[in-house]
Amino acid sequence: MKQRPSFPARLDTTLAKNRPNTVGKPVATPAKTVAPNATAASSVQKRPTLRPAPPPGHGMDSSAVRNRMVQKLAGQGITDAQVLGAMGTIERHRFVDSALVNQAYEDTSLPIGLGQTISKPGVVSRMLELLLKGQLGNPGKLGRVLEIGTGCGYQAAVLSLLATEVYSIERLRGLHDKARDNLRHLRLANLHLLFGDGMAGYVKGAPYAGIIAAAGGEAVPQAWVDQLAVGGRLVAPVVTAGASGAQALLVLDKTPHGVRQSLLEAVHFVPLKSGIG
Ligand code: SAH
Repeated sequence: MKQRPSFPARLDTTLAKNRPNTVGKPVATPAKTVAPNATAASSVQKRPTLRPAPPPGHGMDSSAVRNRMVQKLAGQGITDAQVLGAMGTIERHRFVDSALVNQAYEDTSLPIGLGQTISKPGVVSRMLELLLKGQLGNPGKLGRVLEIGTGCGYQAAVLSLLATEVYSIERLRGLHDKARDNLRHLRLANLHLLFGDGMAGYVKGAPYAGIIAAAGGEAVPQAWVDQLAVGGRLVAPVVTAGASGAQALLVLDKTPHGVRQSLLEAVHFVPLKSGIG
């Protein structure tokens, strides 16, 4: 099997140009874990060693498969070059169980354990594009972002290539830990993993230029709106018809004149739940 270059080498040639402080250079710490409600509970992981070898035994040249996925995303109407670049960079197959690796670049959601799913690439890129486009006065540039629902960490990794700082919160300990493991090799210094109930947002990182949820509730919690910066955008699935649980994508912009909301296409996300587990 052809040896692929190590991950940082590919990042250097794709995205480092525009974002010298996010990835591309070796950094001192990997994705960090921060306890959202504790003041001094921030724990920084030990620096991992570089992982030069490709994932074992899957027999696929993942960059070629990923390029095909990116072409399909472009065919579905994703136009933002940064989003397409980030989707082409993060290796989705590293975030799913080995039994599902062959489906990693299909436009499908996949189980990640504890009844949760990794979102479809089409939906991830659509939401990220909406987030970037919505930056009032500064479209295409993302400052601090809050993600609710880290899951396996895939979308958080993609986001970390697009935003200056990412806070990603997960309510299930098992998935929070899994995301940390999945993300370790990427050493994304601007990605902060939080364990807690994302319904309350994460006030210490606020205000956010963007807030993105990967789980759908009946309504957007007020805390998210409060923690969104003026000029920022929130993208989240919301339940539109209580009985059936049907969801649609909500885009909420916080303008100097108030909040503006629009409901877009139907989506299918896992439910937003309160409390931790
Ligand atoms: N972006 C994720 C998708 C994970 S699915 C990925 O790329 O894998 C959505 C996640 O939201 C689930 O892991 C679920 O546990 C989590 N979730 C649901 N309600 C939450 C809440 N109130 N706070 C934090 N996470 C929540």
